[in-house]
Amino acid sequence: MTTPPDNAVRLPLRPGLEGLTPYGAPQLAVPVLLNVNENPYPPSAGVVADIAAAVAEAAGGLNRYPDRDFPRLREELAAYLAAESGVELDPGQVWAANGSNEVMLHLLQAFGGPGRTVLSFAPTYSMYPEYARDTLTGWVAGRREEDFSLDVGHVRALIDEVRPAVVLLASPNNPTGTALDLATVEAVCEATLASGPAGPDGAPTASVVVVDEAYGEFRRAGTPSALTLLARYRHLAVSRTMSKAFGMAGLRLGYLAAAPELVEHLRVVRLPYHLSALTQAAALAALRHREELMGQVASLRAERDALVVWLRGQGLEVADSDANFVLFGRFDDRSAVWQGLLERGVLIREVGPDGWLRVSVGTPEETAAFRAALVEVLGR
Ligand code: PMP
Repeated sequence: MTTPPDNAVRLPLRPGLEGLTPYGAPQLAVPVLLNVNENPYPPSAGVVADIAAAVAEAAGGLNRYPDRDFPRLREELAAYLAAESGVELDPGQVWAANGSNEVMLHLLQAFGGPGRTVLSFAPTYSMYPEYARDTLTGWVAGRREEDFSLDVGHVRALIDEVRPAVVLLASPNNPTGTALDLATVEAVCEATLASGPAGPDGAPTASVVVVDEAYGEFRRAGTPSALTLLARYRHLAVSRTMSKAFGMAGLRLGYLAAAPELVEHLRVVRLPYHLSALTQAAALAALRHREELMGQVASLRAERDALVVWLRGQGLEVADSDANFVLFGRFDDRSAVWQGLLERGVLIREVGPDGWLRVSVGTPEETAAFRAALVEVLGR
């Protein structure tokens, strides 16, 4: 038997994946990192010690597979959501995975697929079309208004035209920072009661409405969570993450709340034991410290509001933000501004509609460094 030289074998890459590169912002060693909407505050020594002890205990049982259904974690996440939004949930209404990215993948694995379409509204989170691609689901993006809100008439018309299996709405939206008002989410839920693909009996199904609230805890007062609509709509799923407000991006723990029957469908498509025993232990320990971990949310919100005011004071256009980042512009050459900031040790994100840039809210010192660098770059 002969082994062919390396270049003699061609891999059967799935059509459509040719030439694509992996998703992700540049990970550069720069003093001020304001590019991926992380929480700038690391966990305290006390929280680190508690997480480490919980992980050590779980490590003693690593010869066994973890609990596939992670009931304790679902219970604690339900308790957290009740405390945060006032919405009482049964643990059977909660689902979790390795980041809300994986939660979203489970949703599309269960409800998308060949011949089906996911509908969203651009500009929005750039991973959404990738979830669609990876689950062989069609992707249609409608438009947002000048202020990045949704025109309900446009949304209804597209729902009627596309008959999507899933409608994916980020609120607060990334990269714009703008949240949807509850009336808009309600209108989408009403418009999707029978707009999905035909079921096995030929009767219409609903479209699953996913409201991605990855940045939900940063919303301004008066912007209610879509969780408050769950009791009325069994085709609604609201996803959250521990990556942002909890400051636990490295943990990889995202979750959602929905009707129990929707969650049951997600259990069918997940890989067995997808949440490791270490992840479950660390997440439970982090949740025990949620008040301390989330202690910075109020100051990050205040810092964000001050940054919006400051940027507007510089004569820039700034999208209203309910998140821990701000979209600002517009620049004839945004790449030059991004590069100028990088040369001054500040990494932000070149993302979103042409001419705009996105900056995450950091510590007061980091935000000050960003402001000083921007003043220099803009020559003001
Ligand atoms: N949704 C939105 C809108 C996001 O911006 C992000 C992270 N950038 C995610 C979901 C995924 O977050 P994670 O997988 O860390 O939970």
